[in-house]
Amino acid sequence: NHQIHLASRPQGEPTAENFKLVEAAVPALTEGQVLVRNHYLSLDPYMRGRMNDGKSYAQPQPLGEVMLGGTVGEVVESLNANFKPGDKVVGMGGWQEYQLVDASQRGVLQKVDTSHIPLSAYLGAVGMPGVTAWYGLVKIINPKPGETVVVSAASGAVGGAVGQLAKVRGARAVGIAGGADKCRYVVEELGFDACIDYKAHQDVKSLSAALKAACPNGIDGYFENVGGMILDAVLLRANAFSRVAMCGMISGYNGEPIPMSAPQLILVNRMKIEGFIVSEHMEVWPEALKELGTLVATGKLKYRESVAEGIASAPEAFLGLLKGKNFGKQIVKLI
Ligand code: NDP
Repeated sequence: NHQIHLASRPQGEPTAENFKLVEAAVPALTEGQVLVRNHYLSLDPYMRGRMNDGKSYAQPQPLGEVMLGGTVGEVVESLNANFKPGDKVVGMGGWQEYQLVDASQRGVLQKVDTSHIPLSAYLGAVGMPGVTAWYGLVKIINPKPGETVVVSAASGAVGGAVGQLAKVRGARAVGIAGGADKCRYVVEELGFDACIDYKAHQDVKSLSAALKAACPNGIDGYFENVGGMILDAVLLRANAFSRVAMCGMISGYNGEPIPMSAPQLILVNRMKIEGFIVSEHMEVWPEALKELGTLVATGKLKYRESVAEGIASAPEAFLGLLKGKNFGKQIVKLI
């Protein structure tokens, strides 16, 4: 069983040296346990925060242990009446090929139906990132038909779903993403009304002018994944009583400062800004997953994946995710 451990904590930008590839024996099962062969590992920006030791909403990842992470796979052995070999499951298997799960604890392992939805989608559009998009859009932004919703990191796992869910609700969806290829995909494949390449704009003024052109009626809802210059530019175009779902601020995950140049606009525009952590809202997961699952199964919610091959490739793929090298949901294929 090949595993990736956290070997050391990064100072600023993480490197491959912070991780270690380890070979471990697969332990024998005891009563109630299930052995899962992980097929895909999910790589997510939140993992960067867990590599730190500081105080946060989540516990730090312990050193010298398997990196934490969401996985999908197949049951290969079971001493638990609720699971049998061949069952497809989603869980928190970590950065490793096999996981031994005490499946008697409720919720640690969920069976999934792969007849209409590909297994890997349970890590993306029909999984945690999809529910994140759903929660911020539906519960915080709550767009009315005709309103304009802007989302940053728009080609990514969360951002791509945000714009499509906004379109389903009759809103105008405008993305912000890095590079012409990502922007073309967001408009042509995902069906957003417009997408702005923030890398083509050197300053807030220029980016906000592009937002003005893409959002002629201003911005009613903003789904924030990035922070910094992008947030500043959005605030300049925000309408009175607009709502911001504060989902992520990836531009500061390596400790970079994220200044806000005109916070008074929150007051001037009487804005509502709300941060959230998707795992603290388990009550919405069934409703969100139902909508997301139906939309994916019927081809109405599209997504794209960046697939790294083999567990040894996970650290590099993760470092790439933090730099925007991924194009769509970043996963690692383990089998
Ligand atoms: P993505 O698939 O969107 O990948 C991350 C993307 O972020 C990159 O592709 C890149 O896109 C963009 N990015 C990286 N660095 C920068 C930077 N310095 N400036 C601007 N953009 C950058 O990841 P996810 O969809 O999984 O996550 C999106 C956001 O949602 C993250 O901020 C994440 O932390 C947050 N999140 C929050 C949750 C919650 O409960 N609050 C749960 C899940 C995710 P580009 O090339 O376009 O710049």
